[in-house]
Parts: sequence; C-alpha cells; structure tokens
Amino acid sequence: MHELAITQNVVEAVTSRTGSAPVAEVRVRVGRLSGVVPDAMRFCFDLVTAGTPLEGADLEIEQPAGRGRCRRCGVELELLDLVLLCGCGSADVEVLTGRELAVASVQMVVPVQEPAQEPVQPAEGR
Ligand SMILES: [Zn+2]
Repeated sequence: MHELAITQNVVEAVTSRTGSAPVAEVRVRVGRLSGVVPDAMRFCFDLVTAGTPLEGADLEIEQPAGRGRCRRCGVELELLDLVLLCGCGSADVEVLTGRELAVASVQMVVPVQEPAQEPVQPAEGR
C-alpha cells in the first residue's frame, strides 16, 4: 500500500511548515492518474496523523481529471482513470497532466498571524 508512504510524506511536508500548531484541514490535489486511491489515503491519514498536530484534521482530496493527447490522431482527451484509450481506438496516448500529487492548502485551527515572531522550537522537553 504505497498510500502509506505518500500520506506520510504529505504529513511531514505540512508539519515542516506548520510546526506544532494544530491543523484543522489539509487539502491535497491527487491527479486521477497518480495511482493513489483516495479511500486508502484517508485511512492512512488517520493512522499517520495520530499523535501529531494534524490529528483529527479533515483531509480533503481534490481529484482533477487528467489530460492526454492521442499520438495517432492528435486529439486531446480528458483522462478520468488509468485507462488511456482514445476514441479512435488507439491506446497510444501521451499523458499531459493527471499525475500530480500536491498539498493544495492547509487550514490551521488558529489562523496564522504574522510570520516569525516565535522562534522555531526544537521539540518540547529537554
Ligand atoms: Zn486517437
């Protein structure tokens, strides 16, 4: 289940920016051709965020359709899944977009004011 590693990366990417401030919502953009299964990602998110500032945060998953171009007839088509098949019958489709995987936005529980001010704390305790 590669969603676990991917979700872990997402969570680490977020906490590297937000530190220990509690997060209310994380929105990710997962292209339809990325091979990531949203339900699996949600499941992993709950596991991975336990005990972190992201615990209990909502995970919103946007799934933009991909776009491809048929190498045989040149037509551009919308790609909703990994079946790359043009109307002309050719499966020789060049993928233009749809494999993206990115954090689209993060919503904090307490809105972030000015940047800086508080120095980054290495971790609580000694
Ligand atoms: Zn075609």
